Amino acid sequence: MSKRDYYEILGIDRDATDSDIKRAYRQAAKKYHPDLNPNDPKAEEKFKEASEAYQVLSDPEKRSSYDRFGHSGADGQGFGGFDFSDFGFGGLDDLFGDLFGGMGSSRSRRRGPTRGSDRRYDLTITFEEAAFGTEKEIQVLRLEDCSRCKGTGAKEGSQPVTCTECNGTGEVSYAQNTAFGRFVNVSTCPTCNGEGTIISDPCDRCSGKGKVRIRRRISVKIPAGINNDQIITLRGEGDIGDKGGPPGDLYVYINVKPHKLFRRDGYDIHCEVPITFTEAALGAEIEIPTLEGTEKFQIPEGTQTGRTFNLKNRGISHIRGSSRGNQYITVKVMIPRRLNDRQKELLRELDKELSGKEYHEDRKTFFDKVKDAFGR
Ligand SMILES: [Zn+2]
Ligand SMILES: [Zn+2]
Repeated sequence: MSKRDYYEILGIDRDATDSDIKRAYRQAAKKYHPDLNPNDPKAEEKFKEASEAYQVLSDPEKRSSYDRFGHSGADGQGFGGFDFSDFGFGGLDDLFGDLFGGMGSSRSRRRGPTRGSDRRYDLTITFEEAAFGTEKEIQVLRLEDCSRCKGTGAKEGSQPVTCTECNGTGEVSYAQNTAFGRFVNVSTCPTCNGEGTIISDPCDRCSGKGKVRIRRRISVKIPAGINNDQIITLRGEGDIGDKGGPPGDLYVYINVKPHKLFRRDGYDIHCEVPITFTEAALGAEIEIPTLEGTEKFQIPEGTQTGRTFNLKNRGISHIRGSSRGNQYITVKVMIPRRLNDRQKELLRELDKELSGKEYHEDRKTFFDKVKDAFGR
């Protein structure tokens, strides 16, 4: 596999100075950093390539070895197997902070493009809204470019001016003579905080920050079948990025209110329906609740308490696909209380009429078990 020449990768000459190399790499990193090119393997490859080139060329020893021996390096030790783990591959902040920030300088401000922050919004919806899907309008506070200064931070009619201390480079260098020789230290320009520009007349809306916190109405599509604790991601609806970096995302955390009648289990719903013991014994057409409203349901004769009926495809729509879960109806047989004398008499009379066989076989089996248990 032929590797590209490191100088060619960074687009610099063979006699490039250290600061040329650094500048070239910074440009490449700004263009190809994975944070700025999500899901772009080509950009990531380019970023790795540039990082490897920079790692070698920024080290005088490695560079001279590369100059003499090329990619095979000195003593057969190649430059391959480049390890990104101990390199500022984590984020742009790390990269621009560690690599280009000053040595021992005051805390530098970010110089490169930075992705905006993500925002979270907690949204409570009803059981039915979760079941059928809906569209909600929410209001979020987020950072946006100041419309008055168009994000420059400078007052209308004025412009940020180039910092005279660093000539717009954002960094200052000073020579230091030590016992070991002369060193040149590069640090973030203290006058412009590394920005390269100075705002002498700040915008009065954003106080020179270039950004303002704005309340935005955003419409959120809630898909049918969504459940508690699920998150809807709205790409790019978070805070705006820095220096042309991409905006953050908005995460909508869904909270579904419990329903008075239904309990949800995945895409199935359960509900309990009370019926009278006469309805249970004789069978009856009763009214049951469904997600769409109430409807008639036929209880068969001799229905026992706790019996569950399955209404297929009457549950909640699957979040992907068109099928639905089931609705389960469990009947609870109610026994009348506070009967008057005549009612009691009628019941006793009915009881005399019953031979015992009319009851479910479970009753007989139960008494058999009692006999077994007590040996009688
Ligand atoms: Zn402004
Ligand atoms: Zn400056």
